[in-house]
Amino acid sequence: MSDHAEVLVCRSDSPYRAAARAIAHLVERQIIEPMPTDCVLAALGHRPGPRANDVVEEPLVADLAVNGLEVRLPHGVELFAPAQGEPPWVSCPRCKHALEGEMLFEHLMPHDPFKPAPMVACPSCKDERAIEEWTAHGSAFGNLAFFFWNWSPLKESFIAEMKEYCGAPMALLHEHI
Ligand SMILES: [Zn+2]
Repeated sequence: MSDHAEVLVCRSDSPYRAAARAIAHLVERQIIEPMPTDCVLAALGHRPGPRANDVVEEPLVADLAVNGLEVRLPHGVELFAPAQGEPPWVSCPRCKHALEGEMLFEHLMPHDPFKPAPMVACPSCKDERAIEEWTAHGSAFGNLAFFFWNWSPLKESFIAEMKEYCGAPMALLHEHI
């Protein structure tokens, strides 16, 4: 069976604190269970709590093996992109020139987290900025992501609340594997 996820990608100055704060709120509101279990793919996740249906457009399917909230905290900002569908691309915030394919991926290689991110010059207008400052399309740069596995679409109001808990911008992606 294939699995899908509603993914909230967040870019926070303190991602660990933002994640802890969001989880605490979700547990308190009984949207997720407090104890992580093996309810996501190859990781630990929080199963839906008794009030999970308050935050989704349609009631969750009961008793799925994969139905938890998985929190990902990468080392630094990375580009989150769905595994299937259109490949991600970015554009220059100044002149909208697109970077895609190899041109993009070579800049997504991990860099020394103790050094400033390397600058990427726009081939068109020559403006320079770190790749994570380019505008992402079909993807999102972030250092904290919430994967709601096999949840139905999240309510707008809930996404706004998550943004408040994390105190940082939040982008919504749809993962399907
Ligand atoms: Zn440009």
